[in-house]
Amino acid sequence: MVTIKSEKEIKLMKEACRITGLVYQEMEKIIKPGMSTMELDQFADKLIRANGGIPAQKGYPSGMKGVPPFPATLCISINDEVIHGIPSPKKRIENGDVVSIDLVVYKDGFHGDAARTFIVGEGSPEAKRLVEITKQAFFEGIKYAVKGNRIGDISHAIGEFVEKNGYNVVREFQGHGIGREMHEDPGIPNYGKAGRGIRLEPGMTLAVEPMVIAGKRDIYQDYDGWTILTEDGSLAAHYENTILITEKEPEILTLV
Ligand code: MG
Repeated sequence: MVTIKSEKEIKLMKEACRITGLVYQEMEKIIKPGMSTMELDQFADKLIRANGGIPAQKGYPSGMKGVPPFPATLCISINDEVIHGIPSPKKRIENGDVVSIDLVVYKDGFHGDAARTFIVGEGSPEAKRLVEITKQAFFEGIKYAVKGNRIGDISHAIGEFVEKNGYNVVREFQGHGIGREMHEDPGIPNYGKAGRGIRLEPGMTLAVEPMVIAGKRDIYQDYDGWTILTEDGSLAAHYENTILITEKEPEILTLV
């Protein structure tokens, strides 16, 4: 179901989203080579709780038999890992790594969802370009996130931009409506035809999230039942914000 948020609900959404953005702002300052992904996870967990929030991905059901719920606060996916990587004390971030982080904060009944990709230490020019194009793809997409347009307009703009730059979008995962539930309707693919899908209305809150692969778009799932990787081992990046559709330009709620 697509939900239209009231002013009161939007106010609550904004607070969950503010915390999400804040965590990235602080993580960017401390992430460095040698750190384990679990250290980063614990840092984020503490900061969220200090702000009265709850990490919403922790305990999220896998939906697959025999696969336990997601065990951590952050999804941390490095280099050829696309999304849903599981933090571990054994997994260390190395110089030049492309580190994609996804985080959902829950507070007072509502969710804020955002993803960032950090290049830790000295990244290669290829890595820098991939991360920049992925971020830009989000901004290209949300140019169309205005009242009266359709979801397909956002999807089309993202897909076109990414492919024009020689990369591929992940097709098996997509952005989504967000609010009281982490995942609400509509789904927001990162490719597709303009003019398709539901019409955008003020009060809709959407998580728009290009997932971009430098090589071929094929992916596979690790034995852990969560981590998604690129089939050809090429780099992947992820950039996401929760946005609010308004009477004018969209408002980005998870950028602080
Ligand atoms: Mg997310």
